[in-house]
Amino acid sequence: MQVPLVDLRAQYLKLKPEIMAAFEEVLDSMRLFLGPRVQAFERDFAAYCECQYGVGVSSGTDALILALRACEIGPGDEVITVSNTFIATIEAIAAVGARPVFVDIDPETYLMDWQQLEQVLTPRTRAVLPVHLFGHAVEMQPVLDFARAHGLKVIEDASQAHGATYQGQRVGSFGDIACFSLYFSKNLGAFGEAGICTTNDSSLAERMRMIRDHGSRIRYKHELMGVNARLDEMQAAVLLIKMPYLDQWNAARQAHAQRYAELLQDVVEAVPVTRPWGTHVYCYYVIQVPARDQFREALAKEGIETNVHYPIPIHLQPACSIYGYEKGMLPVTERAAEHIVSLPMYPELTEEQLQLVVAAVKKNVLAGVKKM
Ligand SMILES: *Cc1c(COP(=O)(O)O)cnc(C)c1O
Repeated sequence: MQVPLVDLRAQYLKLKPEIMAAFEEVLDSMRLFLGPRVQAFERDFAAYCECQYGVGVSSGTDALILALRACEIGPGDEVITVSNTFIATIEAIAAVGARPVFVDIDPETYLMDWQQLEQVLTPRTRAVLPVHLFGHAVEMQPVLDFARAHGLKVIEDASQAHGATYQGQRVGSFGDIACFSLYFSKNLGAFGEAGICTTNDSSLAERMRMIRDHGSRIRYKHELMGVNARLDEMQAAVLLIKMPYLDQWNAARQAHAQRYAELLQDVVEAVPVTRPWGTHVYCYYVIQVPARDQFREALAKEGIETNVHYPIPIHLQPACSIYGYEKGMLPVTERAAEHIVSLPMYPELTEEQLQLVVAAVKKNVLAGVKKM
């Protein structure tokens, strides 16, 4: 039996009749552009995040760019974030002409270490951009306190944490703006490219609505220089159908994570940690093993797909050489990148599949340890 990292087909097959009917409705209506489904999804998703406004956009990357632009962050400005993230977080900062400034991570949660914020603050710092990576919320209160003390904006990258909570409140509602990817393999995903920004600030929401649609509120009247970053009706139709299942899918991920933890606790170096103030929605199930690359090869031979999120920290990527970071500057991030590996994780994972993964992990971790 093969165990994929993510099985998108399983979810699709369950929802196929509903999705096909919705596609047909959208096409029959020929309302393809900022129509009723986009509006309904924006409203539902914002409410889910305990936020007043949702602005549907064409990807998570665009969500971040629009959020930064709406906050008027641009050339000469610095944005504090982490290197342990997907490149899109940094691309968005670069796209608006600002400079990313990295802090290291907590070695157990892999998330922004807020205790380092003070050390990298400069007169050019304009915003903090915490990333709720792998499905766990960043410890937001100290981040918010730091931002308030220094007059900074807070933009959350919640692309891997739809439904995760901090102090009982859903992520996406803490910063000035939060950005979610709705890429097809995220906890909530369209069948193509999509994203959304959430905020409680009506003027930021209004600005993002304008920027995503060529800087206009009224067609062909362009108040500012915008882009085309709209969410389309076909993707919104899929998202509206999937939205009511999000909590139950996250609960299934949590149940799998609990099984993995029970069975692997004494086998691997680190199973995911959940802090008492948060809930984890396991976008990825990340463990640490010695001899990681051999370990992955051995699992692949047994039909088990794994991945590494992410093998090269962003500050060491060739694309980031202009920022002047070198190996050794973010030691916790760099060490994690050498040992982390993501195991299969998706709501429809079966107990049988999970047992196969666990057996293969046990066998190969023990073999790897012996070799070393
Ligand atoms: C997926 C992801 C993005 C980018 O989203 P896209 O929809 O692929 O553009 C940004 N940040 C993080 C942390 C992500 O995981």
